[in-house]
Amino acid sequence: MNIAILSVSLSVYSTRRIAEEAEKRGHFVEQIDYSRCTVSLGEGRPRIFYQEEDISREFQVIIPRIGAKLTRHGAAIVKQFELSGCFSTARSMGITRARNKARTLQIMARKGVPVPKTLFSIDPESIPFQLQQLGGPPVVIKLQQGTQGLGVILAESEQSARSVIDTFYKMDQPILVQEYIREAEGEDLRIIVVGNDIVAAMKRTGTFGEFRANVHRGGSAETVLLTPKEERMALEAVRYLGLGVAGVDIIRSNAGPRLLEVNASPGLQGIESATGINVAAAIVKYAEYNGSRKK
Ligand code: ADP
Ligand code: GLU
Repeated sequence: MNIAILSVSLSVYSTRRIAEEAEKRGHFVEQIDYSRCTVSLGEGRPRIFYQEEDISREFQVIIPRIGAKLTRHGAAIVKQFELSGCFSTARSMGITRARNKARTLQIMARKGVPVPKTLFSIDPESIPFQLQQLGGPPVVIKLQQGTQGLGVILAESEQSARSVIDTFYKMDQPILVQEYIREAEGEDLRIIVVGNDIVAAMKRTGTFGEFRANVHRGGSAETVLLTPKEERMALEAVRYLGLGVAGVDIIRSNAGPRLLEVNASPGLQGIESATGINVAAAIVKYAEYNGSRKK
């Protein structure tokens, strides 16, 4: 089967691992830097060019690894591959939904997946009301489009919460204001879903004094046993967003698990080394199964 990994670089661990496993399984696999793809519409059939080569009909399957900065363009390229009949392990719509935490939480709340109490607004006058709704500080303030724990702030006092929120509003930066789940003690769960299966899960722990568990923020990771409820939440979240492969972040609160966000291009290095599970192979098998069913 011809598989394209849409990724800006082959030197990224996850891209390299997926390519490796795909080759092992006898596929032709190519890394396509989607930032160098051009879509052409209007005359004849739509085409996707990679640099100057027409690749519209080259692949049965694409595995998108779309970075945060290029989400819009990346999602548009994925969409064009979908329209030309390719199977994608992450649909364009799912990528766009997952990139925005507000959008993700709106969908989860509607479907009944538990999320932390969260507010969003752009009205400076609403700030005292928002803090009151959350029972006062501490509160977590996060960029709607942040990743890797950057843009996630713990505001411990009323005054700092007000000034941080007000600053983001003045900068036209969309944010969420969220209840602080103190009892999580800097830990969260990262769950990798592939199709209808949970293939790996780890518990991430932030460094001492750090409430963010992200590995990119110096956190550590170990394997974890999920509860049936956590498993169900992760599978539902991915299905509701319309993704095939995803990383789901869940935080354990006293009131039960709460969904934080879903990552449409989950990193593989942390999870493969923490669990010893071959996640890349699971992704390739899923791609292979669905790609062959399409033809
Ligand atoms: P990012 O996309 O940047 O990883 P998250 O929303 O996942 O943003 O937050 C980063 C980390 O901060 C989480 O993994 C978790 O450890 C911690 N965190 C996020 N929200 C809360 C919260 N409401 N209460 C406590 N800790 C939180
Ligand atoms: N393992 C990364 C972190 O915790 C997450 C990045 C990703 O999901 O791609 O920082």
